[in-house]
Amino acid sequence: MINKEGYLSLKSYTDEKGVKIAAVSKTHGIEKIQQLYDLGQRIFAENKAQEMVQKHSELPADIEWHFVGHLQRNKVKYIAPFVSFIHSVDSLKLLKEINKEAGKNNRTIDCLFQIDIAEDETKFGMDFPEAREILAGENLWQMENVNICGLMAIATLTDDRTQIEKEFESLSAFFEEIQKTYFSYSNHFKELSIGMTGDYDLAIKAGSTIIRVGSYLFGERHYG
Ligand SMILES: *Cc1c(COP(=O)(O)O)cnc(C)c1O
Repeated sequence: MINKEGYLSLKSYTDEKGVKIAAVSKTHGIEKIQQLYDLGQRIFAENKAQEMVQKHSELPADIEWHFVGHLQRNKVKYIAPFVSFIHSVDSLKLLKEINKEAGKNNRTIDCLFQIDIAEDETKFGMDFPEAREILAGENLWQMENVNICGLMAIATLTDDRTQIEKEFESLSAFFEEIQKTYFSYSNHFKELSIGMTGDYDLAIKAGSTIIRVGSYLFGERHYG
């Protein structure tokens, strides 16, 4: 069972703030996704290429598929024909691969740089200096089949809300710096993908434009 009331109240809250919901459907079956779709949800997010390909083939064609997990370069080709947003670009090499595969499909794929703001060691993403280095290089600006649309991050997994708030604020400040320095002429660079089930309220306060919410909508995940 999906959390129908929860979805509808979250939706009216985020609509009012102009924030998008990416419903993170990883591990959940087609029926639950269809139920949320029937309530009007169109953005769904997955973190495994194979799982996304499978679900894409079984669900309505007007779903906007967002990729949010660590993406291996050799998997890009499977999702390039249809994926609309990749939140988790963590290297220039990966971005080049996405650009290449998008080109083969005559498409442009929207991308976010994943920034590592968390204290836990387990998170993927670039740190601030790495992101600056890529942005200052020439390679980026020659890619015609990707749009750099903003930044994504995952906060530290902690009950300390002050810590999470600090991390979101630092990312938000970095976003503004980058936007001013490199993207003042871009129509694309405007998305900040922060906030999950436990911290989306803090994320929205810090300027999030896309929250990635899973368990709140779909219930607990069962792996394996
Ligand atoms: C699983 C996942 C989410 C959703 O997490 P919930 O706590 O269930 O809302 C968000 N972002 C990423 C990158 C994820 O892997």
